[in-house]
Amino acid sequence: MSDDRELQKRLEEENRRAEEAGRRMASGKRVDWHTYFMNIARVVATRATCDRKHVGAVIVRDKNILSTGYNGSIRGLPHCDDVGHDMVGGHCVRTVHAEANAIIQAARHGVCIDGADIYTTASPCWECFKLIANAGIKRIFYGEFYREEKVFQIARELGIELIKIGAEEEGDHPPTEGDISR
Ligand SMILES: [Zn+2]
Ligand SMILES: [Zn+2]
Repeated sequence: MSDDRELQKRLEEENRRAEEAGRRMASGKRVDWHTYFMNIARVVATRATCDRKHVGAVIVRDKNILSTGYNGSIRGLPHCDDVGHDMVGGHCVRTVHAEANAIIQAARHGVCIDGADIYTTASPCWECFKLIANAGIKRIFYGEFYREEKVFQIARELGIELIKIGAEEEGDHPPTEGDISR
């Protein structure tokens, strides 16, 4: 599949999920906590400025949101959406990732995130995983798998839980260890 077609497919899928989440919210159906925070992470992702992938992250402790982040350029620098991507080795490196930005936001505001959970719409890349681990975050809830197998292996060694939370309407992914079924 060409890059363009793949991107188009991904954007359509994101739109479909956002619409479905919106319908569920509008239906007044009460969602569980995990779905609630993942829905918020999906809304946060809509602020992302690199359309190669829109990712949102929410850091939570005791059902309270401590911090949020989405992938975007360094403060004060132009966005991918305006000036194009900065491609290195097949990846856009212009942006600070969602998980990193959520950790940075906590640091800027002096919020302790030691021992907290993170909800992220895509499983973390290796660079973000290192930040998450050293920030003392113990559980990572993610919406979709994103390319990095190593993260899962090292998380096991470190005792950090990685738990997939599918969209409610999916139910088509095979349940894995640590999967939250609703
Ligand atoms: Zn980009
Ligand atoms: Zn990352």
